[in-house]
Amino acid sequence: MSILVTCIKCNLEMPENANFCPNCGKDTTKTVVEEFDVKSEELIQKTKEILHEGNVTKLIVENEEGKTLLEIPATVGIVGVFIAPWLAALGAIAAVATKCKIKVERKA
Ligand SMILES: [Zn+2]
Repeated sequence: MSILVTCIKCNLEMPENANFCPNCGKDTTKTVVEEFDVKSEELIQKTKEILHEGNVTKLIVENEEGKTLLEIPATVGIVGVFIAPWLAALGAIAAVATKCKIKVERKA
C-alpha cells in the first residue's frame, strides 16, 4: 500500500515519493539543512566530503558573523573538474577566515 500526500497547491492526492505534482507540477521535494562549524584549514576538505556524499542541493559557506561568503549550487560537486574553481574560491576564504560555517541543503 502506498502512502498518499496532498499537493499543497491543487490538493491532488499523489504518492508520497513523487517529486512533482502530476497535475500542477508543484515541486514537492523537501530539503533539510545541516550546519557544520569548521576551521578554515579544514574548509576545503570538509566541502569535498560533503559534495561527495551526494544528495546536496546547495552548499553555503558563512563566516563567523553569519555572512554568506560563497554559495555552491547543486549542479557542481561529484565531477572533480567542475569543482576546481569553487575549491579555489574556498582557498581564498580559508586564507582570510579563521572559522567558517558550512550550511548544507539536502533533499529530505
Ligand atoms: Zn498539484
